[in-house]
Amino acid sequence: MSASRPNLICTFLLILIAGNSTAIAQSPVSHVHGNAELNVVLMEKQLQVEFVSPAINLLGFERPPITDVESATMNNTIKQLQHGGWLIEGVPSTCQLSTEEFEAPFFEERESNKHDHEHESSKHDHEHESSKHEAEAHSNFRVRYLYDCDAALKKQLRILAFDHYNGIETLTVQWITNLMQGYTQLSRDNPVLYLE
Ligand SMILES: [Zn+2]
Repeated sequence: MSASRPNLICTFLLILIAGNSTAIAQSPVSHVHGNAELNVVLMEKQLQVEFVSPAINLLGFERPPITDVESATMNNTIKQLQHGGWLIEGVPSTCQLSTEEFEAPFFEERESNKHDHEHESSKHDHEHESSKHEAEAHSNFRVRYLYDCDAALKKQLRILAFDHYNGIETLTVQWITNLMQGYTQLSRDNPVLYLE
């Protein structure tokens, strides 16, 4: 792939990201407790980061909150994810950070779906039902941040997800810059992402 064709890479990138989101939304296969996913795009002065994690990694549970403590944990987690700024160290404070997308687990809707589902169960075949149950048994948080900066960003980013959430043991990272792309696995002992 030629380095002088950023447009081509951009197109490829969009396909890559769109493909990933679809896979995450529709397939429970990529949902592994203890693992979270990062999709990183660095285009000189712009850094886009998508973070996807099973709810249990961040909350310690993966069902509707029951106690007051669990409700507070849920609310604090949502606030932190929505505000951004917690995930990466090494981005200049002059960069403008915006949260472009945010999805919290839909525990309550899932409950009501369950009700409908029981009603409809006679209409569906068995195979379809069991796959739906599997998909409903797990929930993700998903958030996408955009850092808009005045100057080119560093190629080393320390990921703080492990410091904030004990439930995250590994981070599967797919990254792309205008020159290169890569795939890596980060951990608590190895939290620095090298985009080169
Ligand atoms: Zn799960």
